[in-house]
Amino acid sequence: MLPYATAGEAEAALGRAMTWAEAAWFRYSVATPDYYLYCHHIVIFLVVYTLAPLPLAVLQLRAPAILLPYKLQPRMVGIRTGLPLPSAGETAAQMAVYLLLEDYLGYWVHRLLHTKWGYEKIHHVHHEFTAPVGYVGLYAHWSDVLIIGFPAFVGPAVVPCHMTTLWLWFVIRQLALIDAHDGFDFPLNPANFIPFYGGAPHHDYHHRVGRKSQSNFASVFTFCDYIYGTHKGYMFHKASLAKLKEMAQNSTEKRETMNFIGGKQA
Ligand SMILES: [Zn+2]
Ligand SMILES: [Zn+2]
Repeated sequence: MLPYATAGEAEAALGRAMTWAEAAWFRYSVATPDYYLYCHHIVIFLVVYTLAPLPLAVLQLRAPAILLPYKLQPRMVGIRTGLPLPSAGETAAQMAVYLLLEDYLGYWVHRLLHTKWGYEKIHHVHHEFTAPVGYVGLYAHWSDVLIIGFPAFVGPAVVPCHMTTLWLWFVIRQLALIDAHDGFDFPLNPANFIPFYGGAPHHDYHHRVGRKSQSNFASVFTFCDYIYGTHKGYMFHKASLAKLKEMAQNSTEKRETMNFIGGKQA
């Protein structure tokens, strides 16, 4: 949101008249919060990724002979596009491998981003939100998106799959990312029935304390943090919350008993 109420104020601050582009930007952004402006990148991302590769994808399908000398690879390595479609069992097994590989590599990549250099130069942008919402999953420095997104490609590279499985994998990965940032812990969330699933409580704590805690680096599951000892701050936090809840419950019960006795004596 721009700190000027009118175009006149903006031009006074600039010390000159606005250009055509500046005037257009002023009209568009003057009353829009910065967070919503930032979220535009998701639309830009979708549009660019949909439209930019399209001409070359069409060329690839048509494969005119004149272009063949410029084509590097004969086909997309490893990823199947034909029939038959993969069975449910094959798809589930590949999903399990991709999730485990992404979680393990993502844990170490995320830990590296929490070193002094990684945090100050790159990862601090993602941590601007101490109480995130679903959109914050993609709110990060552009290099953070590339670095932390890399482990998601390792599974399909190591264990190639069908194109439809690849699409499903990226949908599941994005849903897990959104769930980790949405700030809710619904008891009937189906993901909570997956063993060692971290979800929002696990990642919410990571955002609340940021770099200071050195806790909860894993993206999907909780076991890497247990194995490498980066769960201690979270465990302490959970134990403190449980104790506070117990104390509050005890004091409520005590107050109700006193009220009951007081009522009988009156
Ligand atoms: Zn982080
Ligand atoms: Zn996050």
